[in-house]
Amino acid sequence: MAETTSPTKRSPRKWLLTQNSDLRRIGVYNWTLPAFVVTLPDGSNFNVCPQAGACAKLCYARVGTYRFKNVLAAHIRNLLLCRDSPKEFEERMTEELSHRRYEGKWIRLHDSGEFFSDEYLLTWMRIMDSVPAVGYYCYTKEVSRFKRLVENQQPDNFLWCYSLGGKEDHLLDLETDRHADVFPDLEALISAGYSDQSESDLLSVLGDSPLVGIPANRIKHLLKKQGQETFGSLQRAQDAKLAAKNSGAPRELTLAH
Ligand code: SF4
Repeated sequence: MAETTSPTKRSPRKWLLTQNSDLRRIGVYNWTLPAFVVTLPDGSNFNVCPQAGACAKLCYARVGTYRFKNVLAAHIRNLLLCRDSPKEFEERMTEELSHRRYEGKWIRLHDSGEFFSDEYLLTWMRIMDSVPAVGYYCYTKEVSRFKRLVENQQPDNFLWCYSLGGKEDHLLDLETDRHADVFPDLEALISAGYSDQSESDLLSVLGDSPLVGIPANRIKHLLKKQGQETFGSLQRAQDAKLAAKNSGAPRELTLAH
């Protein structure tokens, strides 16, 4: 017997934006890409986080549920859509965000992944302009890209927080640029003078203090690797090591600083 489809039955809508339990609690929706270097279906590799530095070895989005086959496949589909079909991505995302379920809500861009190109960042800024009833925020390590393309010309509904642990940390003024650092625990972030955002991720962009502290994810082997360091301190050590190598300075002279 031939299969029939009821004319009234519609296939369920496929949303591009999702919510994990933490973000659902505060009413935020999320756009996710894979983290760091990912192997695509055609066998090529692509770095979604070009400025990732010390963070890459401690990234929660490179372990656990993010690596589940179906989860990673969905994130790769997102990447291929926005990277390879930017026009279609812009149209679909603009249409989705115009749905009433997003009105007055916040969208977090990239709990994993980054603004991997100028074109992709500019696409998002056009989407933000087209759907002003929605708020958008992100953490980013793409410091030079943001300073060049976003700072002082951002859409009114876009907020961001730089995050330490990337190759461009040195471009930030840690006193004035809003930024986040990941600490081994709550006590460490408070004693460093940072403000805890655990209660709501939105505090990263809406909180009074521009110094945003994040207690490290409770993933045992990553905690062990991080030790008492922060993502920022690990990056500074990595930068110093590289500078010493490039200048050819003897190791003991570098350590004397
Ligand atoms: S930039 Fe973010 S998502 Fe990318 S490797 Fe670093 S911590 Fe992970």
